[in-house]
Amino acid sequence: MAYKITDTCVACGTCQGECPVGAISEGDIYSIDADTCISCGTCASVCPTGAIEEA
Ligand code: SF4
Repeated sequence: MAYKITDTCVACGTCQGECPVGAISEGDIYSIDADTCISCGTCASVCPTGAIEEA
């Protein structure tokens, strides 16, 4: 199980610096590498738009 970023993302970049395993990549909306994610939930807790949810 990994987390995923939905289209509510405004590409603010807040989550990227918080991920302990570097699973989050920049883009028009940010994305999470499911193979790297350890499902810690840190990104979901810091996202200002609530765009990150469990996949
Ligand atoms: Fe990174 Fe944790 Fe978010 Fe997975 S759940 S992308 S490991 S911060």
